[in-house]
Amino acid sequence: MSGAFWSPGLGQLEPYTPGEQPDSGTCIKLNTNENPYPPSPRALALLTSGDFANALRRYPDPESCQLRTAIAHRYGLKPAQVFVGNGSDEVLALSFYSFFRRPEPLLFADITYSFYPVYCQLFGITNRAAPLKEDFTIEVRDFAGRAGGVIIPNPNAPTGCYLSLENIEALLQLQPNRVVIIDEAYIDFGGESAISLINRYPNLLVIHTLSKSYALAGLRLGFAMGQEPLIQGLLRAKNSFNPYPIDAIAQQVATAAIGDKAWHADNCGKVIATRKRSERALQALGFTVIPSRANFILAKPPAPGAEALYLALRKRDILVRYFDQPRIRDYLRISIGTDVEMDQLIGNCKEILASQS
Ligand SMILES: *Cc1c(COP(=O)(O)O)cnc(C)c1O
Repeated sequence: MSGAFWSPGLGQLEPYTPGEQPDSGTCIKLNTNENPYPPSPRALALLTSGDFANALRRYPDPESCQLRTAIAHRYGLKPAQVFVGNGSDEVLALSFYSFFRRPEPLLFADITYSFYPVYCQLFGITNRAAPLKEDFTIEVRDFAGRAGGVIIPNPNAPTGCYLSLENIEALLQLQPNRVVIIDEAYIDFGGESAISLINRYPNLLVIHTLSKSYALAGLRLGFAMGQEPLIQGLLRAKNSFNPYPIDAIAQQVATAAIGDKAWHADNCGKVIATRKRSERALQALGFTVIPSRANFILAKPPAPGAEALYLALRKRDILVRYFDQPRIRDYLRISIGTDVEMDQLIGNCKEILASQS
């Protein structure tokens, strides 16, 4: 469909396609890297006991002061080094707008979060893809040279591959005059965050989300951390677009969630333990498993192959993600569910694979 009233270029955009969100609660949903457990009880308690009559009547705090203070406290930063947005997708969009609209191309890996090229199209940002190595790990040297900026998820999506802090530091030194964004949507599942480098690198922006390790994908809360000039830049963009992206309920619930460190550590531990046993179980079925530090596994199934297995699982109400794109079309990305859900996945894979041979 195209519209006679659309601005020029709108019809040419290729928007991001999120994973399916089926209505039915009966399926086993391992396709969008959601957390299989409920969020922190402290966050949930607020929803039933909180007094929102005035909070909802008024506009929310445009600066989300309480929430930014909680995040700063949690990560050893100043509130002025924290920017919050309506999901990290929004934070990413504002970051692309604020830092990457330059004559030189933005650099990212050839296999990475598929939203990055979409923002480039939206904002008219040229880009260059640096190919991952054969084993899907990043070659840091490929991010040198003329560039408008660099963005990498760490761990990468959808590979789950992790880049060490030494390598992140090397990357920052390769591009001292450009912003380097480390999208740490999955860092809590076994990686070391680059937040510790913020006070030494004025070009570093670290982005986190509550959608994955905090089990709050429905709340829509993401945040960026960096030195003050970067945060000030993001605020200019945000206040030129929507001064109130975080609603009053989200500010309170997110503040409670961030403060519940014990819940968070326990939750990440459970997901990591399930990931490890799922990796072994998939290998036992003949899958080639890419070592993951995230809450998902990228794995190559044996015959009849990724697409056939994806479709067969779907018929059995088990959703995983299949990407029909170069280099990874023989793989499935499987989010880590509960142990029970993973056992059901493994059992069904076993049946499907056996019936094909
Ligand atoms: C899930 C994900 C996001 C988006 O998270 P939201 O906060 O839910 O918008 C950002 N980056 C990567 C790499 C992700 O996988």
